[in-house]
Amino acid sequence: MSNEKQTVFLTGITGFIAQHIAKQLLDSKKFKVIGTARSEEKAKHVTDYFKSDDLTIVSVKELGDPTAFDEHFIKFGNEIDYIIHAASPFAAVADDIEKFFIEPAVNGATGIFKAAVKYAPNLKHFVITASLASMIDVTKDKDITHVFNENSWNPVSRDVALSNGVMGYFYSKTLAEKAVWDLQKELDIKFNVTAINPGLVLGPQVINSAAGASSLNHSCEFINKLLKTEPGEKVATNFDGLAVDVRDVARAHIEPLLNSEKFKDQRLILSVARFGNQLFLDILNGIPELKGKIAVGHPGTEDNLEATRAVIDNTKTNELLGYNLIPLKQSVEDTAKQIVKAKVSI
Ligand code: NDP
Repeated sequence: MSNEKQTVFLTGITGFIAQHIAKQLLDSKKFKVIGTARSEEKAKHVTDYFKSDDLTIVSVKELGDPTAFDEHFIKFGNEIDYIIHAASPFAAVADDIEKFFIEPAVNGATGIFKAAVKYAPNLKHFVITASLASMIDVTKDKDITHVFNENSWNPVSRDVALSNGVMGYFYSKTLAEKAVWDLQKELDIKFNVTAINPGLVLGPQVINSAAGASSLNHSCEFINKLLKTEPGEKVATNFDGLAVDVRDVARAHIEPLLNSEKFKDQRLILSVARFGNQLFLDILNGIPELKGKIAVGHPGTEDNLEATRAVIDNTKTNELLGYNLIPLKQSVEDTAKQIVKAKVSI
């Protein structure tokens, strides 16, 4: 890489993960960032926070519009060295699963990929923020003999996807990631492609004050909700999953930009541990400021979750990345402490 700053086109810069990606890119002083946002107000929070001449924000109102990226690629195409496509709807419910999840996820991913092929002749690497949701078959997650790895694909059907929001989201991520790999094969492309497939992403918000909002981004809301429980309150423990810290996820998006050949054609599973609400509560109750103030549940009852679930083998990813992931305990503590502090200072 030359000494001149390289330009990264980063979608969804108002989002939880993308703000961390932007922060790491700008802090490195190696990159300029063109970020996309659909809300002017949120975009202003981001520019006010970074106050950087290396950051430009452009408007992309609706990912579901297949031509949403064209005008920006016509304008900036020649400058773009890398793309990180992080924007996609993430929630657990939607009135219209097709319109809310599937169209923006798929059209966003294919729209930007096609715009890149057409208008970004100098592009070196395309990174898509995929998800463990496009790898995990939930019907096999309680089979302790089953192993998920970087080659796994979620077989969720369209019918199941349209029947509930969580599966709708899983399906949207699966279709979007598949569409990118399909386009890579179909089109004559000169750049490399990597998918980043994280579990539930936790950790602090880039902008401290944002942690004081009544509701947070979907994944941090898991912790925010538990912080609002009362001592003695019963908490749902009928689900679990895999988690990872946002700072590690952001870093994993940038590694392929620094080592394109090493990461080409890779799907990276970002996951450090199993989580469940009880495990979260056990960690939260260990924070002195929270003791006696929130639900306790049945401590220790989720200590053995990993032994009762399918195996997630991300050895290949961890070898490629070569850094130790932030432990779940620290990730949960950092998420919670920032929320508590931000709420006190409101
Ligand atoms: P956020 O909800 O914080 O950010 C999503 C971003 O996408 C925001 O900038 C949002 O804009 C934008 N966006 C969403 N829908 C649309 C749309 N229809 N049109 C235009 N822009 C849209 O989510 P995260 O940062 O958590 O997620 C980022 C990516 O990471 C997503 O692709 C998600 O699927 C993936 N991911 C997240 C995980 C997690 O646990 N957080 C786990 C695995 C994958 P606005 O700010 O205006 O809402």
